[in-house]
Amino acid sequence: MLTAHTRSGKKINLGYNYKKETLLYFRSKEEFFCPICGESVSLKLGDQRIFHFAHKQSSSCSEFYENETITHMEGKRQLYQWLIRQRIPSVLEFYDKEIGQRPDILFKFKEKKYALEYQCSSLPENAFIKRTKTYLKNEYHPLWILSSNHIHQKKLDIISLSNFHYLFLRATSSGNLYIPSYCPEKHLFQLVGSITSYSIKNAFAQTSQYPLNDLKIEGLLEPISEHHLNLSSWMSEIENFKFNLTRHPVKIQNPFLNEIYTKNLNLFLLPPEIGLPVPHSLTIQTAPIIWQTYLFLDVLAGKNPNDLITLQEIKAHFNKRIRRKDIIIRNLPQLVQVTPLLAEMEYLQHLVRFGILIRKGNTEFQVQRKITIPRSNREREEAKTLFYQKNTRILTEK
Ligand SMILES: [Zn+2]
Repeated sequence: MLTAHTRSGKKINLGYNYKKETLLYFRSKEEFFCPICGESVSLKLGDQRIFHFAHKQSSSCSEFYENETITHMEGKRQLYQWLIRQRIPSVLEFYDKEIGQRPDILFKFKEKKYALEYQCSSLPENAFIKRTKTYLKNEYHPLWILSSNHIHQKKLDIISLSNFHYLFLRATSSGNLYIPSYCPEKHLFQLVGSITSYSIKNAFAQTSQYPLNDLKIEGLLEPISEHHLNLSSWMSEIENFKFNLTRHPVKIQNPFLNEIYTKNLNLFLLPPEIGLPVPHSLTIQTAPIIWQTYLFLDVLAGKNPNDLITLQEIKAHFNKRIRRKDIIIRNLPQLVQVTPLLAEMEYLQHLVRFGILIRKGNTEFQVQRKITIPRSNREREEAKTLFYQKNTRILTEK
């Protein structure tokens, strides 16, 4: 921890750059106390480590300060100084007694109160969600920043993201979704944006890097993303995904594969309209090829030209799949206004633009033509080539 009180109640904030001599002098004159539990704490002034306070024995507030690594304290100190340099009113290790939570930094920006949490360790998902919900309920804007060494770029535009990473996903005011991260060793922000997931773990994404002093608070809260998805890379990853699905030893128990085989479909002969990128695919943990196949089986396959499809019908089937755990929704605690149904709607919107459906008012679609199932590899290849020639622009547009 970086803050403590003296016996007379004066606050010592190690977020500022104190000289070691000054702190040695303080230490010889003063006693220090934890602002939360009131217990006596020691001032640690090692040469290798960041100056900090530590409880003398296990204390009642270990929840707030235990497992605080050097990287964590260093990161939070740098972020605090970065805010102060921009003259943003900020409090380091602010303890809100009412809610029993202590964000690393509380700051106020444009009339909004932000609770910044810099996270280095894997906090359990339910603790993360509970803390975030409490912030939101109490009019804080949570701003979780991930420690950058957690992020693993797989290829140039493909990144591996776990459910833990997705907890950090937040939205700009215009609805762009991104994961902010920071590395105190490199003094570098990394913002992962334009995330289009294609499997549980993997997503296409664009990572932008900014040295600490080149980015202002606006740039952290409202990053601009102009990345376009590379459609041919997307198509080849979808093919890899299918291949891996069948190669997996537990394929017998895979309910998805079972279902498509019992419905006389072949995974490798799915039409090119199934397995498409949509901006909000990350709200659904289940791969797009799977949930789009379910939508096809549940709703589209049984309809003929001129038949109507209601949103209610789509929603009911989607919810049924969720209940049966065929489709898993992602936990995105910082996104309060985003529903996974949005991904389904974006997909249907694609089908409208391909001329398969027509939009009828706010709650209905009408089938214009049926999706054709290829009967051979050759048919499938021909259909795919034609489809992408016609629709590349639609699929890569933002
Ligand atoms: Zn304490």
